[in-house]
Amino acid sequence: MPLTRKQKWRIDKVQSEKIARADKIASKLESQVQDDETEYQGRVITRYGQRQLVEDENGKVFQSVSRQNIGFSVAGDRVLFQKTKHDDAIVTAIFPRDSKLKRQDKLIAANIDQLWLVVAIEPHYEFELIDRYLIMAENSKLPIGIIVNKIELSENEAFRDFQHYQSLGYDVHFISVKKQINLNFLKEQLVNKSHIFLGQSGVGKSSLINSLIPDLELRVNEISSKSKLGKHTTTNTTIYHIPSGGDLIDSPGVREFQLENLTEVEIINGFREFKALSGECRFRDCKHINEPNCAVKKALENGKVNKNRYRSYLNILT
Ligand code: GDP
Ligand code: ZN
Repeated sequence: MPLTRKQKWRIDKVQSEKIARADKIASKLESQVQDDETEYQGRVITRYGQRQLVEDENGKVFQSVSRQNIGFSVAGDRVLFQKTKHDDAIVTAIFPRDSKLKRQDKLIAANIDQLWLVVAIEPHYEFELIDRYLIMAENSKLPIGIIVNKIELSENEAFRDFQHYQSLGYDVHFISVKKQINLNFLKEQLVNKSHIFLGQSGVGKSSLINSLIPDLELRVNEISSKSKLGKHTTTNTTIYHIPSGGDLIDSPGVREFQLENLTEVEIINGFREFKALSGECRFRDCKHINEPNCAVKKALENGKVNKNRYRSYLNILT
């Protein structure tokens, strides 16, 4: 529903009040910057309102505000900051982002190295939903891997079903959190990178995350108390370090990240095997439906394009 003018006005007003408040805090902190003005590199651990927690290279966490006009930072941002005399910090610059995860045009996390779509034998995975996530990832230029959980319930079926995704170059892990199958191998793949786990509820994301970070609850409380905001922050997107290596960017909102409507262009660009063929279609803007001399349809007929993938494509497109 479009906003009424009055609602818009109110939102603008609240927004400008918030900014004014942040500016005030910033200028107050500004006067407390240590004299040497040394700049340190850090990473935003979480953001709440106009503030953020920034972690330096030694793992020390600072409460910070941003200097005016540098833009809005989110969890995952790499930043420069100065320390104040009271061991708070002022963020002075945000480094260009390698990647962005957005929802309704709102940035929710930055510098993610890898998305993982978690699916399960129960509730049973659906190819169309998997393909929707893959389209989203292809379009945001984020690498995506698939984790098939609860593998102890039906191993062979899953191996067979996901072979095709593997042949397309997607990394697929078959695991069981419950029976601790293939978890160590997965952990090794997470080292030195920042990850996000996505997927429907019930597939075992929380179980997986808790097995990767056994003291997660403790970490959540620690971060909540550092931000001095109590429990609120637990719903904010936050970076957690995985003891065996790598980082997890997580929040309930991120885990249950809902897919928005995909545009036609996104759908057409979201199937990597079709995209690879589309140069051979007669029409440059071929949609691979009814066009003559379509390389994708030809490949479908001689079995080089997978029927399930093509079916997903048509269903999502129409
Ligand atoms: P989330 O909603 O994706 O976070 O899923 P949860 O982690 O809450 O798990 C949903 C249910 O699946 C819980 O009852 C878990 O105990 C169960 N579960 C998690 N991993 C496995 C597994 O590997 N095998 C089986 N059989 N159940 C699992
Ligand atoms: Zn075509």
